[in-house]
Amino acid sequence: MNVIETHQLTRRYGKAEALHGLDLAVPAGSVFAFIGPNGAGKTTTIRMLMNLLEPTSGAARVLGVDSRKLTPKERRRIGYVSENQKLPEWMTVEQLMRYCEPLYPTWDRELEKKLLRKFELPADRKLKHLSRGMMMKASLLSSLAYRPELLVLDEPFSGLDPLVRDEFIAGALEVSHQEEWTIFISSHDINEVEQLADWVGIIEAGRLTLSEPIEALLARYRMIEITGNPADLQIPSAPETWLEVEQAGNVMRAIETRYVPERVENVCRQRFKTDTVVAKPMTLRQIFVAVAREGRAQAKASAA
Ligand code: ATP
Repeated sequence: MNVIETHQLTRRYGKAEALHGLDLAVPAGSVFAFIGPNGAGKTTTIRMLMNLLEPTSGAARVLGVDSRKLTPKERRRIGYVSENQKLPEWMTVEQLMRYCEPLYPTWDRELEKKLLRKFELPADRKLKHLSRGMMMKASLLSSLAYRPELLVLDEPFSGLDPLVRDEFIAGALEVSHQEEWTIFISSHDINEVEQLADWVGIIEAGRLTLSEPIEALLARYRMIEITGNPADLQIPSAPETWLEVEQAGNVMRAIETRYVPERVENVCRQRFKTDTVVAKPMTLRQIFVAVAREGRAQAKASAA
């Protein structure tokens, strides 16, 4: 079952199209990292999922309901934290908790206390006197304490130092380890979410360029290095699944996007007349950069 599903979701701002026909599926129980550079369309997508922004066309379903028809009943099952969220700054942390508690029947005081300690938040301090990191933690706390089935985090880490970021992640995992729930988290930096996520979706210039489990992605990509006779190492002979193919002297390098060991060996033997091939695993960051470059090249080619 998918907790979030979008079908051809599109959003224009005036004449500019920020999101182009997004088809996204977020499986229940996943920690889904929604990654893309600044301006890719992450916030636009999330605001439509939360019914804070109308789609120009297409539709989104959240917890099985059309996002434009989300009622308080579904909202009680969703936690939403965004870097641009406005909190009632005149309240203290404690007052914020007491304000939120009656809105959520599943509010868990024990969990609230535990997270308050974990986040080292001063309960009696006014929100306007909190640092940025503390404010984000207060916001997360008020979204976690009712154990939502779906937690949507829009760039929660931007501007947070690594220590606060780790506390934030630990807080989110505190609940997720205990029960089957889904986190949808946007970020422009894969490193920030790598330790948390098990699914990744990459968005580039308003288009989804990839969406799959991280394990499958890491298994699929390899850095290939072939050594052979320079005359046999012809770039046009490289398979379509290879990206960024380059050759210098007797070495050819490429990124394989559908790695199967026997297939790479066969290609090298048949097309490049060599058995000398090394296939190195790639980090998520390296894959992200390669996918982003490929996405930009394709966008350029289709615009030309
Ligand atoms: P960031 O990582 O910088 O937050 P993002 O991936 O969340 O970026 P969006 O904020 O969704 O990206 O923006 C997508 C595109 O839509 C950008 O080109 C942005 O300039 C444009 N955009 C966003 N909001 C508006 C608006 N209210 N009016 C006009 N253009 C907008």
